Formats: sequence, structure tokens, C-alpha cells
Amino acid sequence: QSRYRADFKEISILGQGNFSKVFRVRGRRDGCEYAVKRSLREIGTDAAYMQWSKEVQALAVCCHPNIVRYYANWMEQHNQGEHLFIQMERCDISLGSKLTLGDSFREGDLLKILRQIASALQHVHERGMAHLDVKPDNIYTDANSESVKLGDFGLATPLNHQNMPLDFSEGDCRYLPQELLNDKLDRLDKADMFALGISIFELATGSTLPTGGDKYQDIRQGKVFLPTFSSSFQKLLKALMHIDPAERPSASKLLAWPILNAHKAAANKENSSASS
Ligand code: ATP
Ligand code: MG
Ligand code: MG
Repeated sequence: QSRYRADFKEISILGQGNFSKVFRVRGRRDGCEYAVKRSLREIGTDAAYMQWSKEVQALAVCCHPNIVRYYANWMEQHNQGEHLFIQMERCDISLGSKLTLGDSFREGDLLKILRQIASALQHVHERGMAHLDVKPDNIYTDANSESVKLGDFGLATPLNHQNMPLDFSEGDCRYLPQELLNDKLDRLDKADMFALGISIFELATGSTLPTGGDKYQDIRQGKVFLPTFSSSFQKLLKALMHIDPAERPSASKLLAWPILNAHKAAANKENSSASS
């Protein structure tokens, strides 16, 4: 008897990864929609299990408005091994899909995303972990783009990890800073900040940064040139992509950054005048 079949009615498939499929489902008893991620742990292989256990352990200790909400995990026997499940909040669309659809992001949108994901990362880092897979594909948003949520915690790793936490085939090299590629692992929190910088850069330019080539190397050294964006915005991105992790702002430092706060103050003012 399958707990998945007993508890949920499958509506559609939301996406697919290397080891997993994510389904849009409806709870049979509560009538609410969820996303259920299902991976297959094949007999004799551990990669799917490793990602699944990292993801459930990380999600279980996080509780934050900008992190995908976690409900439960379980396992079921399967003829090829075991099915591993995670029940979580269903989100509408990833920023990566929006990028592919040709949506554009203005400076104000990007400041909002920066503030919300910095807040999510501050929460993750405070809990002694790094996410290590920050990218537009793993940031979800609602239909009207009011809030964004960080998801896909399959590579989450303790900050004090001594050995290479990633098999680079699992992570996306484009978002990883040079020091990580050189096995310097003492500031994994700053690797997330770098990945956030690249992600915002991609959203700003409206396209995925091609790997390799001069432009890629320039961007990775903080040589940002985005003429339609304010100089303070470009300065922020440069700081996030600083080659030296010690010079990159932490999530808390980013949250105190003047243009993020100017934006926050304006957003609060809008909200209070909308509600009054
Ligand atoms: P793998 O690591 O196994 O290759 P993955 O970790 O990339 O897969 P996810 O990113 O978690 O898998 O999910 C794959 C896709 O499913 C996402 O890109 C997204 O389109 C969709 N998805 C995942 N979680 C949710 C969710 N909570 N709500 C809506 N869609 C989701
Ligand atoms: Mg993903
Ligand atoms: Mg993943």
C-alpha cells in the first residue's frame, strides 16, 4: 500500500531533475495542494539518497517566509529500490522558467528578490548550513511575483564541512565561485552570496550567463557592466561577485546595504498607504 497514493491525488508534473520528479498533488483529506518530490534510490546507488537526506534535514530546520515550506518525508519500497518522498509547499513558477519565457526584471524587482533571498540565506547560514545550489531555477515565485522562495535544498551542506561537499556534476559550476573550484571550503556561506550575485546578474540581463569565454571570466571577477542599472546596484553586484570571499558581503551585511533598505522603506510605505 502506497502512502503517496493513499494520501494524495496527482494533478500534474511540475518538473523533473536528475534524480527526481516533482508532482502537483491534492491532499485527499485536507483538500489542499502540495508539491511532492519523488526520487528513486536504486539498489546499490546512494546519490539520490544523499540528496534526499540532505534536503529533508535542511528543510526540516528551516522555517522562513522566503524558504519553500516543508511538511513531511517518507520512503516506500519499490521494485528497483526505494522511492523517497518530500511533501512541500507548491509554488507557481521558478525565476529560471520566467527567464526562459522572456520575462524581464527591473531594478526594483531585483532589489526585492535580493532582499528576500538574502533573508532566506541569513536564516540558512544561521542554522550552520550553506545551500550551495542558489540559481534562478531554484528560486520560486507566485503568479504576481510578490514574494520569492528558495527551494531545492538537495546540496545543503554544513558550513564547517572539511571535505569537498559537492560533486561538480551535481552543482552548477556557473554559480560557484573560484575558491570552491579550487577546494577552499572555509567560507561556504560566501559561496551562496556569489551564486546569488550571478543569479541576479542573469535576471538583470535576461539570459543565462554562458560558461567559458571572456565575458564569463570577467563577470566572475566582478567586472559588471549593466548600463541600464544604477551605479549603486552595479556596485552591490560587484561586491557579491568579489573574487575574495572575505570581501563579499554576508547575508546580514547585504540586508543592511543602503539601496536594499531604501527599497524596503519605499515598499513599507506603499503597503501602509495601500492598507489605510
Ligand atoms: P535533481 O537534483 O534530482 O536533479 P532538482 O533538485 O533540480 O532535481 P528540484 O529543483 O527540487 O529538483 O525540482 C525540479 C523542478 O520541479 C524545479 O525546477 C521546479 O520546476 C519544480 N519544483 C520543485 N519544487 C517545486 C515546488 N515546491 N513548487 C513548484 N514546483 C516545484
Ligand atoms: Mg533544481
Ligand atoms: Mg537539487
